[in-house]
Amino acid sequence: MGKVNTVLVPIATEDLGITSLHEHIGFGLPGCDLDTQWWKKPDEAFEVTIAKLRRFREHGGKTFVDCTGIGNGRDLEYFQVLSRRTGVHIVAVTGFVAGDSALAYFREKSVDYLTDLFVQEVTVGIAGTSAKAGAIKVGVSRGGKLSELDKKIYRAAARAAVKTGAPIITHLTTDPDTAIEIFESENLPLNRVLMGHADVGQDVDEVRDSVIANLGGYVGFDTIGYDLDMENPPYWGRYRKDRVDHFMRFLEKGFLEKAVIAADANCCALGWPGLKGHSVNYLFEEFLPDIRKAGVTEEQIEQLLVHTPATFLTMQEPR
Ligand SMILES: [Zn+2]
Repeated sequence: MGKVNTVLVPIATEDLGITSLHEHIGFGLPGCDLDTQWWKKPDEAFEVTIAKLRRFREHGGKTFVDCTGIGNGRDLEYFQVLSRRTGVHIVAVTGFVAGDSALAYFREKSVDYLTDLFVQEVTVGIAGTSAKAGAIKVGVSRGGKLSELDKKIYRAAARAAVKTGAPIITHLTTDPDTAIEIFESENLPLNRVLMGHADVGQDVDEVRDSVIANLGGYVGFDTIGYDLDMENPPYWGRYRKDRVDHFMRFLEKGFLEKAVIAADANCCALGWPGLKGHSVNYLFEEFLPDIRKAGVTEEQIEQLLVHTPATFLTMQEPR
């Protein structure tokens, strides 16, 4: 029987239920905790977060994958409290959102060192807790191409994924050829990789989406809700209709089983105000109604929110 690491205990794949594969309890760039202009009292942050997770439960949500990497506000003891209070399974990650936001301490480390760090966080625990990472996060630095540091992190993540059986989630789908080359050279099948954020505003490339899916990789429509239609949208936003149309074209190409949907929303953002009105619940309250209207069936929605996340997150036999 398959298992998935959560912040409390590893659980059976069957218990994952409705899962959002790319969310955040609270994400910020390293140093954000020192920027007091956005600082929130811990009990205020706790209350808004609990409310959003309870709403997620009411929508039938059972598993929340927190893609907050090392140095971005990941707090395992806090995640454990939130999970116990709400009954939501929380899956944490090891790794970095991208090389250019990795803390200086880690930048000069070797591939072997980073591999050992990721393996330890998946197999032993994170920061002295028993919470084991359920996935490995990597990403592309600003500029559109993997930097040397990004490549080192991708290689370490690939080796750790092979050694532990944990999957990889990427921040951005840009420069996929370089990423695919690294994964292939480390013998990591692409069906262990979710290439995330294919739906961000300035970075749409539908040919690239098809190349990734044809090679077995997952393609993330996982910044859903960062809509240009909203008040004060971020620069990576997109008109809501454009995103839905892009998603529907991906399904029409026969890639339902390679599609991932998530909101990449903060329960309570760190170091920036977050986007008002945007949470994981946007998926249920805005996106699902949109795609139902566009013709997506309940069975297809179950594939997107239950079966695909379960297949992807289930730990493989270590090699
Ligand atoms: Zn994210």
